[in-house]
Amino acid sequence: MNIGKIGEFGLINIINKTLGTKNKTIIKGIGDDAAALKLENNNLTLLTTDMLIEGIHFDLSYCDPYHIGAKALAVNISDVAAMGGNPTFYLLSIALPEQTDQVFFENLIKGFHDISDRFGISLIGGDTVASKDNIVINISLLGDVAKEEMICRNNAQKGDKIFVTGTIGDSAAGLAILTGKPGPTDINQKYHSLIAKHLNPSPRVEVARLIAKMKIANAMIDVSDGLAIDLQRICDESLVSGKIWLQDIPLSKDYKMAKKDFGFSVEHPLTGGEDYELLFTVPDNQLDKLFGISQNLDCSITKIGEICHGQGVEIIDKYDKPVKLDKLGYEHFKV
Ligand code: ADP
Ligand code: MG
Repeated sequence: MNIGKIGEFGLINIINKTLGTKNKTIIKGIGDDAAALKLENNNLTLLTTDMLIEGIHFDLSYCDPYHIGAKALAVNISDVAAMGGNPTFYLLSIALPEQTDQVFFENLIKGFHDISDRFGISLIGGDTVASKDNIVINISLLGDVAKEEMICRNNAQKGDKIFVTGTIGDSAAGLAILTGKPGPTDINQKYHSLIAKHLNPSPRVEVARLIAKMKIANAMIDVSDGLAIDLQRICDESLVSGKIWLQDIPLSKDYKMAKKDFGFSVEHPLTGGEDYELLFTVPDNQLDKLFGISQNLDCSITKIGEICHGQGVEIIDKYDKPVKLDKLGYEHFKV
């Protein structure tokens, strides 16, 4: 059987069954945004890695090298944030075709530099090799979190309310505009914010740390593959189901304008992915704390649904009817 039938998560299951290990040091192994190791007393070391392949994750026809570097690091930081952690150190491995221009390379590295600087993290090593045709970037990021502050995917409880930070769908809209048919010449200017959200996502470290320190959330994930599929991951790991109301999903002004211009489907913001917003579940007795902090954040926080008994994700439209999705989000090998 072709691996396309199994999909990314089927492959990860095979890896986990064959290689997955459990011991006292591994507090979290495969299955969350980052692994958590108990290497010292009360602090956990977080570890995450992501690989970006030219032609799959980015395309040089619309991505400049600066933003490729910046985004590669930002998406790893987002995974550490989704555990409630602080990002600290990273390793950077790069494969490049030998004809790569030096200025291109320097701009790529500048992208890493500015994100490292902004989040106070340090590069501690890596690997640099030649490739045949494509650029490949792999980052491994370390972080830390106090044991009692870590927020995993597997603790959502029935009755929790489901929240997201920021707005959803902007990045997918930005990608559609960048890769779509040529529109009016001012289109990129008009939709600058959507394109920026795609090329230059900003991981929500500050709000994630607040939620973690104040123990507001039972479960958390960052939205990387799509709101629906990432909520499904929380539900699968927590053995619960999730219900979200389509009308309550926060959409930006520019997204709504683009939706009119391009006719994005109802499911577009649910399945587009790469939002790098936080999706988290909060028990009723923590809601006041959440509303308390929400006044002073640099992003909005919106209630979009509720955790229920059972399994799966249900999306309810404004007529109270379930929305059927062809697929919940992005999965490698299955596109
Ligand atoms: P995220 O989107 O948050 O980066 P992924 O969906 O990429 O997470 O991965 C899901 C889980 O599977 C993570 O815990 C990740 O570490 C693990 N995983 C993915 N690929 C592999 C692999 N090749 N070997 C071991 N674990 C893997
Ligand atoms: Mg993640």
